[in-house]
Amino acid sequence: AGSGKFFVGGNWKCNGTKESISKLISDLNAATLENDVDVVVAPPFIYIDQVKNSLTDRIEVSAQNTWIGKGGAFTGEISAEQLVDIGCQWVILGHSERRHVIGEDDQFIGKKAAYALSQNLKVMACIGELLEEREAGKTFDVCFKQMKAFADNITNWTDVVIAYEPVWAIGTGKVASPEQAQEVHAAVRDWLKTNVSADVASSVRIIYGGSVNAANCAELAKKEDIDGFLVGGASLKGPDFATICNSVT
Ligand code: PEP
Repeated sequence: AGSGKFFVGGNWKCNGTKESISKLISDLNAATLENDVDVVVAPPFIYIDQVKNSLTDRIEVSAQNTWIGKGGAFTGEISAEQLVDIGCQWVILGHSERRHVIGEDDQFIGKKAAYALSQNLKVMACIGELLEEREAGKTFDVCFKQMKAFADNITNWTDVVIAYEPVWAIGTGKVASPEQAQEVHAAVRDWLKTNVSADVASSVRIIYGGSVNAANCAELAKKEDIDGFLVGGASLKGPDFATICNSVT
């Protein structure tokens, strides 16, 4: 971990029921979390209100997506204004499932980031390469292109956390090695230094996501450019998620 405050996000994806979420909330409320870590959970939209009403304020709440602009005639979408209205503080944008399953492209995601930030939502900006891109030696090209779309749209990085999530590691049980993750994190930081500013490069947190669990988090957390985690599967288990949150201490 670097010098910034450690950050752990839990992405619940399209999982949970009122009942299972109520159990997860009690486990999270009962967990002991170290002081020097920011913790955020991202429930499905329809459960955000339930989570806001029963989860400790110690843990902030995120959406998993948002509409690109002001709300209105956009059937099925949820606006940044609505998220702010119910007390949601964060949004995950550019998750690989939105990019590769739903088909969102770099420009669309970049514009979403700009709009969310303009409405005072904080953003977890996700990037990451597919397996065939890694095998073709294109990992940095892909990550830098995705970073550029964010950088073209973001003027203030204070409320942004970058999540490097190699697609081949998400939900597969194939976690990146600490060295593989560190290599990309350092390259992204270097890209920010060249293309945004030295200040942003040193202050922005870059977190790793992809099959992080209670057993592998401590080794990853030792790497100097890994400032936290975005956790999918293991974030549905309260005690495991708490272990990951506390992995840096
Ligand atoms: C994710 O979806 O952001 C993620 C990292 O998932 P998992 O931890 O299940 O690989």
